[in-house]
Amino acid sequence: MNNLLEVNSVSKNFGDFKALNNVSITVPKGSIFGLLGPNGAGKTTLIRIINQITMPDTGTVMLDGEPLEAHHIQHIGYLPEERGLYKSMKVGEQALYLAQLKGLPKAEAKKRLKYWFERLEIGDWWNKKIQELSKGMAQKIQFVVTVLHKPKLLIFDEPFSGFDPINANLIKDEILQLREEGATVIFSTHRMESVEELCDHIALIHQSNKILDGKLIDIKRQYKTNTYEVGLLTDNQTQLMNNLKGKFEISPADFKSLNDDLKLNIKLNSNESSNDLLTYLTSQAQVNHFNELVPSANDIFIQTVKNN
Ligand code: ADP
Ligand code: MG
Repeated sequence: MNNLLEVNSVSKNFGDFKALNNVSITVPKGSIFGLLGPNGAGKTTLIRIINQITMPDTGTVMLDGEPLEAHHIQHIGYLPEERGLYKSMKVGEQALYLAQLKGLPKAEAKKRLKYWFERLEIGDWWNKKIQELSKGMAQKIQFVVTVLHKPKLLIFDEPFSGFDPINANLIKDEILQLREEGATVIFSTHRMESVEELCDHIALIHQSNKILDGKLIDIKRQYKTNTYEVGLLTDNQTQLMNNLKGKFEISPADFKSLNDDLKLNIKLNSNESSNDLLTYLTSQAQVNHFNELVPSANDIFIQTVKNN
């Protein structure tokens, strides 16, 4: 079984409103799977279904080849979007309590918590009250509690939303490390920066429908436009521009360079290769910069949502 999770044709209505329409996703073992989509797309609804908090109207969910049942919940670590902790409890006391709910014996829970608290440099929070913590601080505690019992599937709903850039980075690195150690990760986001660095697979949900999914690299290949960003040094920029205009589709480019380069994006036809372009450019100017323009997750997100 290469897939840890398979969601098959899941639909969910709230009254007359269809929150999910026939959505299927396949999450390979060991992957970091990004569930993307604008606000209100249906991401949290799908995550709640996978966690058996909500039941689908139709469709099935399989975990490791078995239809999802109550006992599977111990194999899933879930960081909800709405993150509630008991305000008046102390941090350590609460973390211990939540860890024991996940089935860890108290001594083991304490050992693991101490390890994680040191690791995330929050050791001195142990005796603080939850209400003394900022939103980001409370989120760190919840992250620890989510991963503590080493579940094989981790699901983070908007994990970066409450964090400053430094802590968001720290959590990003921890997610990569958890995958190294064998976990499979699903996380939802409407912000694309994290996608580039983390995801190998994505599904894009828009207005209750899945409109795109697959390996991120395959999707990027599918969306690439055969465009190269070039920086060209020449004594006669006007002449060079005219020569290029006659042969290629060109537009101004914007990137940093140390030279007074002519900066262009050059789009090739499907029958032209990067080598053809490079050969031509080197006959015309000094090529200081040559870079294939790869569509970003953000470009793909915006373009696909617009077209739907
Ligand atoms: P996302 O996480 O992608 O932002 P959600 O899954 O939270 O989106 O919500 C999708 C849509 O379903 C929204 O329009 C939301 O208002 C609606 N919705 C979600 N949960 C409920 C519920 N329990 N009752 C009624 N409507 C809901
Ligand atoms: Mg949500």
